[in-house]
Amino acid sequence: MRPAIRPYLDGPGYVYAERPEVIAARYGFDRVARLASNENPFGPSPAAIEAAGQSLAEAHRYPDDSMSVLRAALSARYGEHSWVVGNGMDGIIETVLRVFCEAGDRVVVSTPTFSFYGIAARGQGARVETVPRGPEFAVEIDAFATACRGAKVAFLCTPNNPTGTATAVDDVRAIAESCGDCLLFLDNAYVDFSDRDYGSLAASCDNLVIGRTFSKLYGLAGFRVGYAQVPEWLLPAYGRAATPFSGISSVSAAAAVGALQDRTHTDRTRRHVVAWRERIARECLFPCLPSEANFLMVDVAPYTSDEAVAALARDGVLVRSCRSFPDLADHYLRVSVGADWENERFLQAINSRADLA
Ligand SMILES: *Cc1c(COP(=O)(O)O)cnc(C)c1O
Repeated sequence: MRPAIRPYLDGPGYVYAERPEVIAARYGFDRVARLASNENPFGPSPAAIEAAGQSLAEAHRYPDDSMSVLRAALSARYGEHSWVVGNGMDGIIETVLRVFCEAGDRVVVSTPTFSFYGIAARGQGARVETVPRGPEFAVEIDAFATACRGAKVAFLCTPNNPTGTATAVDDVRAIAESCGDCLLFLDNAYVDFSDRDYGSLAASCDNLVIGRTFSKLYGLAGFRVGYAQVPEWLLPAYGRAATPFSGISSVSAAAAVGALQDRTHTDRTRRHVVAWRERIARECLFPCLPSEANFLMVDVAPYTSDEAVAALARDGVLVRSCRSFPDLADHYLRVSVGADWENERFLQAINSRADLA
């Protein structure tokens, strides 16, 4: 006899990028352009590596339970706020859902977007309702806010993954103000690559959580560190719902503190991303959506998403098929801004298939 596994696990799970070693071996490349996961092509900052290395000697001790050093470093860099940190922003999303959702509660997601919101919400037994974006993937403010009323939590990603498009700060404010007692989780994983500043909304919106991550701009995806601005009233419940020690290792927390000190590395990354994102949009023979992130969504019609991804893999380029994103037509791929050689290989590979476009 075995216990029954919960039926929600029969649904679609998280989709990972294909492993580069597999593509390299299958098509005979020494190195593959890794443009599927929006990582920082320059790697972690040397300051982050140094700080993580120094922390190893104390790794027999449990971490600081309040993560006070990391939270103080966030305040020093981004201003005094009630910060929480977690095991990636993914860990924070999960904790927020644990604070609010009972089985059967409603969670609203603006789509097409990052899949983990829905997966994590179903993990709490919540019912997920998607609200598709309108033309050019703009969020339809009234429709979204209306759907949020009566829901426990709503997810809005800006700049949005996978479209790269952003929602105006005033539109986010309008949603937060008109969605009743629903908590609005604003996913700002890519905000570092945009000129928009959503952080100031926290002062006036009492139902807003703004999630951010060290995985993209800071190049610490493997360390799994996320952070978020939460309203002060949420802190005690959040702390009780979270995994002990915020689910973060002391080594990861040290790396994040080190990374926050190195403005040279982040400035260089941002300049590189902005320059290449413009160049790819200009030189790619397939249409690219306007992006405020470190990736672009490319319309590969008449190819399907999977056909385009398979064709690029044969040229040693790993990009993300957008087939699995709900409420998105099946002819898009998402390509990260990578190192110079990776972006050049992508442009050459995609443009060699533009005869049909
Ligand atoms: C990458 C990503 C995250 C999660 O990042 P973590 O690595 O878990 O910190 C969250 N939201 C979006 C939209 C992302 O693309």
